[in-house]
Amino acid sequence: MTLYSIFGDPVSHSFSPKIHNACFKEFGLRHLGYTRTRLEDGSKLRETFLDLNLKGANVTVPHKEEAFKACDEVRGVAKVIGAVNTVVNENGRLIGYNTDAPGFVESLKAHGNFQKILIIGGGGTAKALATAFKDEHRDLTVVNRSKKRLDFFKESGIKAFTWESFKPEKFDVVINTTSAGLEDNSLPIPEEILEKLFETKPFAVDVIYNKNTPFLQYAKSKDLKTADGEGMLIWQGVLAFSYFTSIEDKQEIYKTMKEAFAL
Ligand code: NDP
Repeated sequence: MTLYSIFGDPVSHSFSPKIHNACFKEFGLRHLGYTRTRLEDGSKLRETFLDLNLKGANVTVPHKEEAFKACDEVRGVAKVIGAVNTVVNENGRLIGYNTDAPGFVESLKAHGNFQKILIIGGGGTAKALATAFKDEHRDLTVVNRSKKRLDFFKESGIKAFTWESFKPEKFDVVINTTSAGLEDNSLPIPEEILEKLFETKPFAVDVIYNKNTPFLQYAKSKDLKTADGEGMLIWQGVLAFSYFTSIEDKQEIYKTMKEAFAL
Protein backbone atom coordinates (compact mmCIF):
# COMPACT_ATOMS: atom_id res chain seq x y z
CA MET A 1 0.00 0.00 0.00
CA THR A 2 1.33 3.43 -0.96
CA LEU A 3 0.37 5.84 1.79
CA TYR A 4 -0.62 9.52 1.95
CA SER A 5 -1.58 11.53 5.05
CA ILE A 6 -2.86 14.81 6.37
CA PHE A 7 -0.70 16.42 9.11
CA GLY A 8 -2.16 18.89 11.60
CA ASP A 9 -3.04 19.60 15.21
CA PRO A 10 -5.97 19.18 15.62
CA VAL A 11 -6.56 16.81 12.72
CA SER A 12 -9.50 14.68 13.80
CA HIS A 13 -11.95 17.07 12.03
CA SER A 14 -10.21 16.68 8.65
CA PHE A 15 -12.19 15.41 5.67
CA SER A 16 -9.08 14.96 3.54
CA PRO A 17 -8.83 11.17 4.08
CA LYS A 18 -12.45 10.76 3.00
CA ILE A 19 -12.22 12.80 -0.21
CA HIS A 20 -8.82 11.44 -1.31
CA ASN A 21 -9.71 7.81 -0.55
CA ALA A 22 -12.95 8.24 -2.56
CA CYS A 23 -10.89 9.44 -5.53
CA PHE A 24 -8.35 6.62 -5.22
CA LYS A 25 -11.30 4.23 -5.49
CA GLU A 26 -13.01 6.12 -8.32
CA PHE A 27 -9.85 6.23 -10.43
CA GLY A 28 -9.02 2.55 -9.74
CA LEU A 29 -5.93 3.32 -7.61
CA ARG A 30 -6.62 0.57 -5.08
CA HIS A 31 -2.99 0.32 -3.95
CA LEU A 32 -3.14 3.91 -2.60
CA GLY A 33 -4.49 4.90 0.84
CA TYR A 34 -4.82 8.17 2.76
CA THR A 35 -4.68 8.51 6.57
CA ARG A 36 -4.39 11.26 9.20
CA THR A 37 -1.45 12.08 11.50
CA ARG A 38 -1.75 14.37 14.52
CA LEU A 39 1.56 16.20 14.84
CA GLU A 40 2.16 18.44 17.85
CA ASP A 41 5.70 19.50 16.96
CA GLY A 42 5.81 20.87 13.40
CA SER A 43 9.62 20.64 13.29
CA LYS A 44 9.18 16.82 13.24
CA LEU A 45 7.18 16.91 10.00
CA ARG A 46 9.95 15.81 7.64
CA GLU A 47 11.16 13.04 9.95
CA THR A 48 7.60 11.76 10.49
CA PHE A 49 6.80 11.92 6.74
CA LEU A 50 9.89 9.82 5.95
CA ASP A 51 9.37 7.40 8.88
CA LEU A 52 5.85 6.69 7.64
CA ASN A 53 7.27 6.17 4.14
CA LEU A 54 4.67 8.53 2.64
CA LYS A 55 4.34 9.26 -1.07
CA GLY A 56 2.55 12.52 -0.36
CA ALA A 57 0.84 14.59 2.31
CA ASN A 58 -1.38 17.55 2.99
CA VAL A 59 -0.62 19.92 5.83
CA THR A 60 -3.13 21.92 7.84
CA VAL A 61 -3.11 24.33 10.78
CA PRO A 62 -0.65 25.07 12.44
CA HIS A 63 2.20 23.49 10.43
CA LYS A 64 2.18 25.03 6.93
CA GLU A 65 5.13 27.29 7.61
CA GLU A 66 7.09 24.33 9.10
CA ALA A 67 6.13 22.26 6.04
CA PHE A 68 7.72 24.92 3.85
CA LYS A 69 11.00 24.44 5.77
CA ALA A 70 10.71 20.65 5.59
CA CYS A 71 10.77 20.51 1.75
CA ASP A 72 13.81 20.09 -0.50
CA GLU A 73 12.14 22.23 -3.17
CA VAL A 74 9.09 24.50 -3.13
CA ARG A 75 7.17 25.42 -6.28
CA GLY A 76 4.64 28.05 -7.37
CA VAL A 77 2.71 30.33 -5.01
CA ALA A 78 4.04 28.41 -1.96
CA LYS A 79 7.47 29.90 -2.67
CA VAL A 80 6.09 33.45 -2.43
CA ILE A 81 4.10 32.91 0.75
CA GLY A 82 6.41 30.55 2.65
CA ALA A 83 3.56 28.13 3.41
CA VAL A 84 3.09 24.61 2.02
CA ASN A 85 -0.13 22.56 2.22
CA THR A 86 0.83 19.79 -0.22
CA VAL A 87 4.02 17.70 -0.15
CA VAL A 88 4.94 15.20 -2.84
CA ASN A 89 7.74 12.65 -2.46
CA GLU A 90 9.59 12.68 -5.80
CA ASN A 91 12.23 9.94 -5.59
CA GLY A 92 13.11 10.81 -1.98
CA ARG A 93 13.00 14.60 -2.51
CA LEU A 94 10.13 16.42 -0.82
CA ILE A 95 8.46 18.92 -3.18
CA GLY A 96 6.13 21.52 -1.66
CA TYR A 97 3.10 23.26 -3.20
CA ASN A 98 0.26 25.43 -1.95
CA THR A 99 -3.15 24.59 -3.38
CA ASP A 100 -5.21 26.67 -0.88
CA ALA A 101 -5.08 29.91 -2.84
CA PRO A 102 -5.96 28.61 -6.31
CA GLY A 103 -8.55 26.37 -4.62
CA PHE A 104 -10.17 29.32 -2.88
CA VAL A 105 -10.20 31.51 -6.01
CA GLU A 106 -11.85 28.65 -7.92
CA SER A 107 -14.50 28.15 -5.22
CA LEU A 108 -15.34 31.88 -4.91
CA LYS A 109 -16.21 32.07 -8.63
CA ALA A 110 -19.50 30.28 -7.87
CA HIS A 111 -20.64 33.27 -5.73
CA GLY A 112 -19.74 36.33 -7.82
CA ASN A 113 -16.96 38.54 -9.14
CA PHE A 114 -15.77 40.42 -6.04
CA GLN A 115 -13.38 43.36 -6.43
CA LYS A 116 -12.98 44.95 -2.98
CA ILE A 117 -11.84 42.28 -0.57
CA LEU A 118 -11.14 42.17 3.17
CA ILE A 119 -9.15 39.28 4.60
CA ILE A 120 -9.29 38.75 8.38
CA GLY A 121 -6.13 36.96 9.57
CA GLY A 122 -2.46 36.95 8.68
CA GLY A 123 -1.39 33.28 8.72
CA GLY A 124 -0.57 30.87 5.92
CA THR A 125 -4.07 30.89 4.43
CA ALA A 126 -4.29 34.69 4.49
CA LYS A 127 -0.93 34.98 2.72
CA ALA A 128 -1.95 32.43 0.11
CA LEU A 129 -5.26 34.14 -0.65
CA ALA A 130 -3.73 37.63 -0.65
CA THR A 131 -1.06 36.52 -3.14
CA ALA A 132 -3.68 35.02 -5.45
CA PHE A 133 -5.95 38.09 -5.27
CA LYS A 134 -3.03 40.47 -5.77
CA ASP A 135 -2.10 38.57 -8.94
CA GLU A 136 -5.65 39.26 -10.14
CA HIS A 137 -5.31 43.00 -9.31
CA ARG A 138 -8.15 43.04 -6.75
CA ASP A 139 -8.46 45.85 -4.18
CA LEU A 140 -7.23 44.05 -1.07
CA THR A 141 -7.04 44.83 2.66
CA VAL A 142 -5.81 42.57 5.49
CA VAL A 143 -6.60 42.91 9.20
CA ASN A 144 -4.95 40.70 11.83
CA ARG A 145 -5.03 40.44 15.64
CA SER A 146 -1.28 40.84 16.08
CA LYS A 147 1.23 43.03 14.30
CA LYS A 148 3.96 40.45 13.81
CA ARG A 149 2.41 38.83 10.75
CA LEU A 150 1.67 42.07 8.85
CA ASP A 151 5.15 42.66 7.38
CA PHE A 152 4.64 40.14 4.57
CA PHE A 153 1.56 42.00 3.34
CA LYS A 154 3.04 45.49 3.69
CA GLU A 155 6.17 44.41 1.83
CA SER A 156 3.93 43.08 -0.97
CA GLY A 157 2.15 46.46 -1.23
CA ILE A 158 -1.07 45.23 0.41
CA LYS A 159 -2.96 47.43 2.90
CA ALA A 160 -2.54 45.71 6.29
CA PHE A 161 -3.77 46.67 9.75
CA THR A 162 -4.09 45.43 13.30
CA TRP A 163 -7.50 45.59 14.99
CA GLU A 164 -6.44 48.87 16.61
CA SER A 165 -5.33 50.66 13.42
CA PHE A 166 -8.13 49.31 11.15
CA LYS A 167 -11.04 51.57 10.07
CA PRO A 168 -14.07 49.58 8.79
CA GLU A 169 -15.38 50.58 5.33
CA LYS A 170 -17.46 49.02 2.54
CA PHE A 171 -16.14 45.71 1.14
CA ASP A 172 -17.70 43.35 -1.45
CA VAL A 173 -16.52 40.29 0.43
CA VAL A 174 -15.15 39.68 3.95
CA ILE A 175 -13.15 36.46 4.36
CA ASN A 176 -12.30 34.94 7.74
CA THR A 177 -9.02 33.04 7.40
CA THR A 178 -8.26 32.77 11.13
CA SER A 179 -8.75 29.61 13.18
CA ALA A 180 -11.06 31.51 15.57
CA GLY A 181 -14.22 29.40 15.84
CA LEU A 182 -12.50 26.15 14.82
CA GLU A 183 -12.15 24.79 18.35
CA ASP A 184 -13.76 27.59 20.34
CA ASN A 185 -16.64 30.05 20.08
CA SER A 186 -14.74 33.25 19.40
CA LEU A 187 -15.23 35.79 16.63
CA PRO A 188 -12.09 36.49 14.53
CA ILE A 189 -12.25 40.22 15.27
CA PRO A 190 -14.03 42.23 18.01
CA GLU A 191 -17.81 42.39 17.56
CA GLU A 192 -17.93 46.19 17.34
CA ILE A 193 -15.66 46.10 14.25
CA LEU A 194 -17.61 43.24 12.66
CA GLU A 195 -20.91 45.03 13.24
CA LYS A 196 -19.67 48.09 11.31
CA LEU A 197 -18.23 45.93 8.52
CA PHE A 198 -21.50 44.04 8.08
CA GLU A 199 -23.66 47.20 7.88
CA THR A 200 -22.89 47.45 4.13
CA LYS A 201 -23.91 43.79 3.54
CA PRO A 202 -20.76 42.22 2.09
CA PHE A 203 -20.65 38.53 1.13
CA ALA A 204 -19.15 36.69 4.12
CA VAL A 205 -16.92 33.63 3.73
CA ASP A 206 -15.26 31.50 6.40
CA VAL A 207 -12.48 29.18 5.31
CA ILE A 208 -13.38 26.78 8.15
CA TYR A 209 -15.61 24.05 6.78
CA ASN A 210 -18.42 21.90 8.10
CA LYS A 211 -19.08 24.23 11.00
CA ASN A 212 -21.48 27.11 11.49
CA THR A 213 -18.76 29.28 13.06
CA PRO A 214 -19.50 32.29 15.28
CA PHE A 215 -18.38 34.45 12.30
CA LEU A 216 -20.95 32.82 9.98
CA GLN A 217 -23.66 32.84 12.66
CA TYR A 218 -23.08 36.54 13.19
CA ALA A 219 -23.17 37.24 9.42
CA LYS A 220 -26.44 35.31 9.04
CA SER A 221 -27.95 37.21 11.98
CA LYS A 222 -27.27 40.39 9.94
CA ASP A 223 -28.92 38.85 6.82
CA LEU A 224 -25.69 38.50 4.85
CA LYS A 225 -25.13 35.91 2.14
CA THR A 226 -22.49 33.41 3.34
CA ALA A 227 -20.33 30.46 2.37
CA ASP A 228 -18.15 28.17 4.46
CA GLY A 229 -14.83 26.58 3.47
CA GLU A 230 -16.29 23.51 1.79
CA GLY A 231 -15.65 24.77 -1.75
CA MET A 232 -12.09 25.75 -0.87
CA LEU A 233 -11.43 22.41 0.84
CA ILE A 234 -12.68 20.46 -2.14
CA TRP A 235 -10.78 22.56 -4.69
CA GLN A 236 -7.49 22.49 -2.73
CA GLY A 237 -8.00 18.71 -2.55
CA VAL A 238 -8.64 18.48 -6.31
CA LEU A 239 -5.38 20.29 -7.05
CA ALA A 240 -3.42 18.25 -4.45
CA PHE A 241 -4.83 14.98 -5.84
CA SER A 242 -3.70 16.03 -9.28
CA TYR A 243 -0.16 16.58 -7.95
CA PHE A 244 -0.23 13.22 -6.12
CA THR A 245 -1.40 11.17 -9.10
CA SER A 246 -0.75 13.30 -12.23
CA ILE A 247 -4.45 12.83 -13.11
CA GLU A 248 -5.56 15.98 -14.97
CA ASP A 249 -9.35 15.59 -15.17
CA LYS A 250 -10.09 18.15 -12.45
CA GLN A 251 -13.87 18.31 -13.04
CA GLU A 252 -14.12 14.55 -12.50
CA ILE A 253 -11.94 14.77 -9.36
CA TYR A 254 -14.12 17.66 -8.10
CA LYS A 255 -17.32 15.68 -8.72
CA THR A 256 -16.03 12.64 -6.83
CA MET A 257 -14.69 14.69 -3.92
CA LYS A 258 -17.92 16.70 -3.61
CA GLU A 259 -20.01 13.53 -3.51
CA ALA A 260 -17.68 11.97 -0.90
CA PHE A 261 -17.78 15.12 1.20
CA ALA A 262 -21.60 15.02 1.32
CA LEU A 263 -21.73 11.38 2.53
P1 NDP B 1 -2.10 29.92 10.77
O1 NDP B 1 -1.75 29.24 12.04
O2 NDP B 1 -1.05 30.09 9.73
O3 NDP B 1 -2.71 31.36 11.10
C1 NDP B 1 -3.73 31.53 12.04
C2 NDP B 1 -4.25 32.97 11.97
O4 NDP B 1 -5.42 33.00 12.79
C3 NDP B 1 -3.29 34.03 12.50
O5 NDP B 1 -3.44 35.20 11.73
C4 NDP B 1 -3.80 34.25 13.94
O6 NDP B 1 -3.58 35.56 14.41
C5 NDP B 1 -5.30 34.07 13.74
N1 NDP B 1 -6.01 33.66 14.92
C6 NDP B 1 -5.96 32.47 15.57
N2 NDP B 1 -6.82 32.47 16.62
C7 NDP B 1 -7.43 33.68 16.63
C8 NDP B 1 -8.42 34.28 17.45
N3 NDP B 1 -8.96 33.62 18.49
N4 NDP B 1 -8.82 35.54 17.17
C9 NDP B 1 -8.29 36.22 16.13
N5 NDP B 1 -7.34 35.71 15.30
C10 NDP B 1 -6.91 34.46 15.55
O7 NDP B 1 -3.37 29.12 10.20
P2 NDP B 1 -3.80 28.81 8.69
O8 NDP B 1 -3.80 30.06 7.90
O9 NDP B 1 -3.04 27.65 8.18
O10 NDP B 1 -5.31 28.27 8.89
C11 NDP B 1 -6.33 29.13 9.35
C12 NDP B 1 -7.71 28.45 9.23
O11 NDP B 1 -8.01 28.16 7.89
C13 NDP B 1 -7.85 27.16 9.99
O12 NDP B 1 -9.06 27.19 10.69
C14 NDP B 1 -7.89 26.10 8.90
O13 NDP B 1 -8.65 24.98 9.30
C15 NDP B 1 -8.57 26.86 7.79
N6 NDP B 1 -8.28 26.35 6.44
C16 NDP B 1 -9.29 25.85 5.66
C17 NDP B 1 -9.02 25.38 4.40
C18 NDP B 1 -10.11 24.81 3.55
O14 NDP B 1 -9.79 24.10 2.63
N7 NDP B 1 -11.36 25.13 3.77
C19 NDP B 1 -7.65 25.37 3.85
C20 NDP B 1 -6.69 25.96 4.72
C21 NDP B 1 -6.99 26.40 5.98
P3 NDP B 1 -2.18 36.00 15.17
O15 NDP B 1 -1.20 36.31 14.08
O16 NDP B 1 -2.57 37.19 15.97
O17 NDP B 1 -1.78 34.83 16.02
